[in-house]
Amino acid sequence: MEFKYDVRDLKFILKEWLPSQEVFACDRFKENFSVEDIDILLNEAYKVAREVVNPINAPGDKVGARFENGSVTPSPGFTEAYRFMQQNGWGSSSECIKIETGMPLILYKAASEMNSAACPALMSYVKLTSGAANLIIRFGTDRDRETFLPKMLSGDWQGTMCLTEPNFGSDVGDIITRAYPTADPRIYKIKGTKMFITGGDGGHCENTIHMVLARPEGGAAGSPGIGLYIVPKIWVNDDGSLGKPNDVTTAGIEHKTGLHAHATALLNFGDEEECRGILVGPPPDEKGQSNGLAMMFHMMNESRIGTGHNANNQAAAAYYFASQFATERIQGRPFGVKGAGRCAIIKHEDVRRMLLDMKAHVEGIRAMIFKGFYWLDIQSNSSDKALAKKYGEFAEVLTPLVKCYGSEASLGLISEAIQVLGGVGYTQEYPVEQYLRDSKILSIWEGTSFIHGNDLVGRKMRMKEGTSFTNWMATIKGFIDANAKAEGFEKEMAGLARGYQCLADVKATYDAWFADMAAKRSLIPLYAIKALFVCAQVQVAECLMEQALIAKSKLATLPADAFDATFYKGKIASARYYVNNVLPNAFLATEMIQNGDDSVLTCPEEALVVN
Ligand SMILES: Cc1cc2nc3c(=O)[nH]c(=O)nc-3n(C[C@H](O)[C@H](O)[C@H](O)COP(=O)(O)OP(=O)(O)OC[C@H]3O[C@@H](n4cnc5c(N)ncnc54)[C@H](O)[C@@H]3O)c2cc1C
Repeated sequence: MEFKYDVRDLKFILKEWLPSQEVFACDRFKENFSVEDIDILLNEAYKVAREVVNPINAPGDKVGARFENGSVTPSPGFTEAYRFMQQNGWGSSSECIKIETGMPLILYKAASEMNSAACPALMSYVKLTSGAANLIIRFGTDRDRETFLPKMLSGDWQGTMCLTEPNFGSDVGDIITRAYPTADPRIYKIKGTKMFITGGDGGHCENTIHMVLARPEGGAAGSPGIGLYIVPKIWVNDDGSLGKPNDVTTAGIEHKTGLHAHATALLNFGDEEECRGILVGPPPDEKGQSNGLAMMFHMMNESRIGTGHNANNQAAAAYYFASQFATERIQGRPFGVKGAGRCAIIKHEDVRRMLLDMKAHVEGIRAMIFKGFYWLDIQSNSSDKALAKKYGEFAEVLTPLVKCYGSEASLGLISEAIQVLGGVGYTQEYPVEQYLRDSKILSIWEGTSFIHGNDLVGRKMRMKEGTSFTNWMATIKGFIDANAKAEGFEKEMAGLARGYQCLADVKATYDAWFADMAAKRSLIPLYAIKALFVCAQVQVAECLMEQALIAKSKLATLPADAFDATFYKGKIASARYYVNNVLPNAFLATEMIQNGDDSVLTCPEEALVVN
């Protein structure tokens, strides 16, 4: 089976659906990018995904990164592929903010989506390096930027994010890694252990630049006391040359369910009291407060959207494999057709149901994610400050939806792709099961699903007196009001209007719970993920309906046998399927939230545990 990807849908998103020209017209991009670049770039990215990236995916899974004698040996081909991506414009030099070579997110992400799908383990290294470089660009000094960026962008060095510690995962605000001041106010001595660090020691670069959260001595308790430090694995001298090892040791790498090819390391900082970190941002204030976690949130938010996107890419790749298989596998006869011979399984109603279910989810979640990238592009680059602010707030609301719904949905979709293959889908002879193993982590890292449910109901629904959320809701309402009578879609638009009502009902229920904390406190976290699913499913349905209306008008201009007619019919089918078969889950979930059943709370804790 070949690695295939739906480049046509990516082109549709950028050329026919989103107002990409508004992004390309921003001062930062107008000299270098235009709508005409989209086809060329995406075709080339697809070629790279097929010819350079995908070939290392299965061997990487089988051989994996190995930890021997205190250092990591990368999986076969990873060193070369990482360099190739970073040196040829498929990595950080295109993804980073504010640098000359940086691309619009909508364009870069459409290209990188195919590479992520082709080998998720490889592209995680690239994305973390971009995230670390972006932190240095945003908050570092000129000297930091001169010291670290050239080699990070060239692929000689890589970047990581170091938050988690053995006893502090979700509770990142309580971390105990320490930063001790030195005579140089810029430099701190770092001491502590960080766990589960992706690329913490990948073995594929000559140096690793760790972005480390640590609490300066005397720092305030909890999140406000945490600082952010640049900690190179090998110290970088003032002239840019590599100095001595910086007392960062790799204690081991994890043996994981999936993503075998990327090394997840346990790192000790400062065992010999010699680990130096460069302070990012101002030193702690008189109350012992630093801004480290807030700065790190920039990297985390990028990674959260990236995680949801990565999940959807993997689901997409699994679906494309399943759809190829369904046209080739001969099994059974058409239901209820007398005398019919054996047929390809794609002829069976239930297999087609699974394929359309995957197609609708993948396209809908992709659309939601790209709406978010478009908002982020405008936020960061538009000269229209009011619009930039508004879209920035929408993107904040969307971030937990993308991370949590994207990663949770992908697991079901990839499992469904295995189902299409039947027994062989469960074997390692076929490429689909690897996606199930590789993608499970995506609902855990960058905050577990609950963290994002909580972020939605506790922060995003309530920030700025709730106006960011209600303004975001209004974008959906605006589309419904403008298209309520769209010919041929009356039923679907009515379904979407009911979805909008669900958003309003969930918001009202949560407002009431927050107003009655004494009685309802525990219902808030209990129903957070359900509330998030309602919001995500309504947003996805709205995006698909926007796309369906465009597809309908395009179809009207094409001869019935036009090659592209099938694509547009498929877009309409995705929207109808999702609105009629998936969105009703949001109706039911809204009822459940309003019902507020408390059996989870009243069930004795002991009854939940088997002794
Ligand atoms: C392969 C891999 C790569 C990783 N990469 C990185 C990396 O590069 N950098 C980094 O810093 N970290 C990384 N991590 C760590 C990852 O972010 C954490 O594992 C994750 O945040 C969850 O923390 P935890 O494992 O300690 O689980 P815990 O926080 O112990 O959570 C266990 C369960 O309890 C739930 N829970 C916890 N607290 C609450 C609460 N208050 N209310 C309700 N439920 C709660 C969680 O939702 C979860 O279901 C990685 C982890 C893995 C496995």
